[in-house]
Amino acid sequence: MEKDQANSVSLEKIVALSKRRGFIFPGSEIYGGFANSYTYGPYGVSLKNNIKKLWWKMFVEDREDIVGIDGPILLHPKVWEASGHTSGFNDALVDCKECKKRFRPDHLVEEATGEDLEGRLDDMKRVLDERINCPSCGKRNWSAVRNFNMMFRVPLNTTGSTDEEITYLRPETAGAIFIEFKNVLDSMRVKIPFGIAQIGKAFRNEIVAGNFIFRLRELEQMEIEYFIRPDAEWEPLFEAWLSLQESFAMALGAAPENLRRKEHPKEKLSHYSRKTTDIEFRYPFGGFKELFGLAHRGDFDLRRHAEVSGQPLEYFDSEKMSASCHT
Ligand SMILES: [Zn+2]
Repeated sequence: MEKDQANSVSLEKIVALSKRRGFIFPGSEIYGGFANSYTYGPYGVSLKNNIKKLWWKMFVEDREDIVGIDGPILLHPKVWEASGHTSGFNDALVDCKECKKRFRPDHLVEEATGEDLEGRLDDMKRVLDERINCPSCGKRNWSAVRNFNMMFRVPLNTTGSTDEEITYLRPETAGAIFIEFKNVLDSMRVKIPFGIAQIGKAFRNEIVAGNFIFRLRELEQMEIEYFIRPDAEWEPLFEAWLSLQESFAMALGAAPENLRRKEHPKEKLSHYSRKTTDIEFRYPFGGFKELFGLAHRGDFDLRRHAEVSGQPLEYFDSEKMSASCHT
């Protein structure tokens, strides 16, 4: 783990200052607090709105090839079945049987060994049992390592139905972008390549958070899906999008030395992804962590929504666009 030499200010100081000066307050504080929730205070919300405005200007208003939408947080549950979130949007978790605290076993293993065992539950359990004590109580008595779906379930109060009907709080904003692809295409006369952008809340039932507003259960995303032809040269475009993301971070005041690119190794890519690169920022806790992600997702999303919905996405069929970018 990198030392945060470039940051002389500790996270504790930032948290305290943010509260004192009206930027960010701990959530539900008068009820003793509520883990991982925060309120943006009067200055905080202005700052956040300015960031969103700058992003919207740079990526939507100033460009001819990107349009915006604002989709719902609650979508048809089949959206998440098609995208793979219902079955595959999981984090591993483990409980300390002594103090009952819950941890991300992949994080504990990586901190102790430097090894990334994401997805390998048995291997994580073995390493935990062999050599890792509970960071909270110091004992070593681990539960089984198991997967936990990170989507928040929402029961729907459907009239006349006795079956439990549920949907989910959206875990990312991209779902609405893909399912409105054809409506945007039919109404806006856009031509490939083009992108659809959205800013909004997304929800992830993170097991352990704790680094202030980094990795909250309720977060705000700024996402773009950019559609290109399958025969387009995507590498220069991918590079251009990385540079754009870096320019945006620097426009917000990030120093270049606090930014770096991290390409995901081939063996860890989703089967549909040709390339995924994160732009990381050096945070005042634990060093470099993801700030933006950029993924070449092929035709996975539109093809899956066409399959699961039974609605032909005709333009997709004839043109077979193949890439999208998460920002
Ligand atoms: Zn413990």
